[in-house]
Amino acid sequence: MEDCIFCKIAQGKIKSDTVYEDNDFLAFRDISPQAPVHILIIPKKHIAKLYDTEDFALLGRLMRIASKLAKDSGVEQRGYRLVLNTNSDGGQSVDHIHIHLLGGRAMQWPPG
Ligand code: AMP
Repeated sequence: MEDCIFCKIAQGKIKSDTVYEDNDFLAFRDISPQAPVHILIIPKKHIAKLYDTEDFALLGRLMRIASKLAKDSGVEQRGYRLVLNTNSDGGQSVDHIHIHLLGGRAMQWPPG
């Protein structure tokens, strides 16, 4: 989608600190990290909201890549958090679905 910043990152039009890429997915470090490990995993295809897709295979692969990157980042053993914000109450600021992988410190509960 033309005005979507994550589409531009997926297309290489905006630079990112890429940690994983395949034909359908990209993972890169968050520009404003909230934890020592803060990676965003996105489908290259534009999907604005979680409820916009019934492509469960894509969603499953998104989760699988997140868990693989948790292992590769060295946070699997101590633990990590996956977050998928939706709409304004959820804190979604970019309308292109993405999973936050957060790790490297103890997380709080309930989340803010
Ligand atoms: P959310 O608020 O859940 O929609 O998450 C969007 C995330 O994208 C935020 O954590 C931002 O810091 C991050 N972000 C925005 N622009 C960029 C960028 N150009 N490169 C990396 N991360 C970004």
